[in-house]
Parts: sequence; structure tokens; C-alpha cells
Amino acid sequence: MESIAPLESLASLLQAGGKAAALTGAGMSTESGIPDFRSAGGIWDQFDPMEYAHIAAFRSDPEKVWQMLTELESIVLQARPNDGHRALAALERAGMLLGVITQNIDGLHQAGGSTTVVEFHGSGRTLVCLRCGARADAVSMRQQPRPPRCPSCQSIMKPDAVLFGEDIGADALRRANALVEACDVMLVCGTSTEVWPAAQLPQRARQRGALVYEFNLEACLPAPCVSERVLGPLGVTLPALVAEAGAT
Ligand SMILES: [Zn+2]
Repeated sequence: MESIAPLESLASLLQAGGKAAALTGAGMSTESGIPDFRSAGGIWDQFDPMEYAHIAAFRSDPEKVWQMLTELESIVLQARPNDGHRALAALERAGMLLGVITQNIDGLHQAGGSTTVVEFHGSGRTLVCLRCGARADAVSMRQQPRPPRCPSCQSIMKPDAVLFGEDIGADALRRANALVEACDVMLVCGTSTEVWPAAQLPQRARQRGALVYEFNLEACLPAPCVSERVLGPLGVTLPALVAEAGAT
């Protein structure tokens, strides 16, 4: 790996008691077989998001939107955490990572062992009823006819993921901001942070004097936001950080 040097200084910071927070995106899960929705061959190549992933579309024609959601579910529910997810969990167990803010809906951080996870865009592993608010586990509902019906009121359920046109949950925003305020270093992993409001988190961290380390396959973050870049597959670079920090 070319850029191991930044890992040494980062590991030293964590060993000296510096606290990290992670912000993760689609690149975190590509090694788990979940293609970036925005990439070529991603789900938005097959389904126009405005037609299939907007809350207005769901409200007006949920049966149609569930064609896309069924595809999405089969990708998400079959995926397993990778070495990158497990590395962030190891940092948390070692007391070096305060928590993960993720833009992913796949639940793979929790599956990989992380306990403090802020799901900015909700979860694809839970279904929610828009009429009565009941929630259900997506895996246990998979055998039901599509679209799945609420066990309480028989309305069509929606994945508890944020669709276009829906707001980020206030609780997720509050918890994400608290992590940004508390961290000494932000690990931006597998995301270009183009999408608001995740985009502002590294900026906010920088403004309050935290370091920002970018872990990506290639440089994505604008230079003013970044202290150091660690480029390469996250399934390699994050375990290298764990080893360097002695967090195994
Ligand atoms: Zn209901």
C-alpha cells in the first residue's frame, strides 16, 4: 500500500486517547457486494429514482415502487459485513471510535459488530407502516406476498429507509452532530459526501479543529476538508489502521 504513512500518525493519535468518529457511504459496502446505487449497473441505472424512490411515487403507486424495493431488499438482505466494517467495530471496542454515522441502509455496521451507529438514511432491514407507525423486521416479512402488508392495519409497508422527498430523521441529525462535536478525528470512509446533509459533517469537524482522514479508493473529498488521504480498498486500509493502532 502506498500511503501507509498517514496511518502511523492517525494510530498514534488514537493510542494517545484521541477519539474518532466515522462517516461512511456506499464505498463501505461495495466489498460486501452492494454496488453503489449511483454507479453504472447500480440500482438507479435500472430504476429512475424519481419514478421509483420518491415518497410521492410510493404514496401514489406503492405496488409499482415495490418492484424496485424488492430488488433492493434482495441485494441488502443477502449482504454480509466485510473486513472494513469489522475494523471499525474493532476500533469502537478498543475505545478509539465513538461511533459510526452511515449513509448506508444495509445494516452491515451492526452486523459487523458496531454498536453506536447513526443511520442517516434509515434502514432497509426494517419495514414501517405509514398509516399506523408499526415496524416489522424485513427478513421475517420476506416470505409475505409483495407488497408486504402491515400486521396491525393491513396497509402497505415501506422500508424504514429515507426515500427522496423525505426528511432525515431529527434524532439521526442530533446524534450525528453530537458525534461530530465530540470527535478529535473524523474518518470519512467510502463516500464522496456529495449528498446533503452528510456533506457538511466533515466541514463542521474541520471548522472545530478536528482532523479529517479520507479513506477511499481514490481521492473524492475537496482538499480544504481533508487532513490526510488513505487510498485503497477499505477492506485493506481500515484493518491496517486497526493493526497499527493495536486495536485487535
Ligand atoms: Zn399499520
